[in-house]
Amino acid sequence: MTAFDPQNFYYATTPPPPAHAPLSGETRADVCIVGGGISGLSAALHLAERGFSVALLEAEHLGFGGSGRSGGQTIFGYASGQEKLEKLVGKADARLMWDIALEGMELQRELIARHSIACDYVAGHMHVGVKARHDAELRAEVESLHEDYDYRSVRLIGRDELRTLVPSERYTSAIHDSNSGHLQPYKFTLGLAAAMARAGARIFENSRVTKLELADRADADSLVHTASGTVRARHVLIAGNALLGRLVPELARKLMAVGTYIAATEVLGEERARALITNNAAVADINWVLDYFRRSADHRLLFGGRVSYSGIDPFDSARVLRARIQRVFPQLADARIEYAWGGYVDITPNRAPHFGRLAPNAYFLQGFSGHGMVLSVIAGSLVAEAMGATAERFDVFARIPHRDFPGGTYFRRPALVLAMLWFRLKDLV
Ligand SMILES: Cc1cc2nc3c(=O)[nH]c(=O)nc-3n(C[C@H](O)[C@H](O)[C@H](O)COP(=O)(O)OP(=O)(O)OC[C@H]3O[C@@H](n4cnc5c(N)ncnc54)[C@H](O)[C@@H]3O)c2cc1C
Repeated sequence: MTAFDPQNFYYATTPPPPAHAPLSGETRADVCIVGGGISGLSAALHLAERGFSVALLEAEHLGFGGSGRSGGQTIFGYASGQEKLEKLVGKADARLMWDIALEGMELQRELIARHSIACDYVAGHMHVGVKARHDAELRAEVESLHEDYDYRSVRLIGRDELRTLVPSERYTSAIHDSNSGHLQPYKFTLGLAAAMARAGARIFENSRVTKLELADRADADSLVHTASGTVRARHVLIAGNALLGRLVPELARKLMAVGTYIAATEVLGEERARALITNNAAVADINWVLDYFRRSADHRLLFGGRVSYSGIDPFDSARVLRARIQRVFPQLADARIEYAWGGYVDITPNRAPHFGRLAPNAYFLQGFSGHGMVLSVIAGSLVAEAMGATAERFDVFARIPHRDFPGGTYFRRPALVLAMLWFRLKDLV
């Protein structure tokens, strides 16, 4: 997979971070981490703070994956929803996972404050409905969050109030959550990297892992190879997620890398941008193939939508997203698109995260299914906990049953396209 996006707004407008040399020769570390996104960096930071020596290998540059491309919406809970989790693992484990997800939101804010990460964090998020039947769904969700989970930061917003917040004819009602929010994901990623480097962890960029030799005993070392070097480590974390490819076939079978795209308008000016989302919340509709948008700190509209299940992108995403923006905000007909980029979201069939072990000391994290901005942060700290020998909270996720995507390694993409077309049809009725 290659980069889609010389036009990534975040890369273009964030001060360039320090570059890190590729791995060369053999080195030793307590922990080797594969992947320089938020999952890998959060784990590295928490491990370094616990006194582990850490070597992190990134195939391209830090934030090359979803962490440097994302819509930046920091959303409560899991993409699967709690009801689905309860069916998969039972009420008690689903409750434990819920508490962990909420702790993730606290942890994210705490890391931003503690490490002074300037990433434009803003509180407030709205899930919006686009048709009458969504009103009942949103109402039921708020009731369940209040009654079953005592989650009081959410409230239902009716059409009239919603119009004052998002002046669009498209939306019928919303759930507002004051505990969710949005941030600039690449700045957050780089902020974590700077904190982990200060804590003593080592970073190697342009260091794609090509081969793993994982020890089958807890008291032996594993070997992690790149084209130009090897890390010998007691513990390994695989955090390559949607870009891991076929390095670990058993992980590839459980995950689909779904292409999604974002456009940034030109700078609209403060007044015009404010008028689009007056409370400055992040907004996502509740369709399967969803539109998601927010204001940027420099007063643009960042608008995401349009997925590609075939995994290839050669289409004019700026033009397509411009049309989607105008469906929501016809008042932006004259606004130029200045940046448009894409990336791969990490989706599991049941949309619950996929965490576990490949060997006694080899962990993996993937499949946040559109909630990775928060969950990857807490997932990294759970791995640090597990490697520090308190694995109880990590292991609750290993109990989620995950099926393979149908079609084996080579034929699962056509099968997924069909499955997703089904969900797309459900959006239309
Ligand atoms: C366009 C887009 C919009 C999104 N919007 C949202 C959103 O609004 N809210 C939300 O919660 N989530 C969103 N997501 C998903 C979210 O970005 C991801 O779930 C999250 O960033 C995953 O972080 P990660 O660290 O697990 O993986 P990544 O950030 O993908 O990092 C994995 C890293 O591993 C590296 N790697 C892969 N293979 C190897 C290898 N063999 N050797 C070494 N390195 C390797 C990759 O180069 C990459 O840098 C979005 C994703 C995209 C693409």
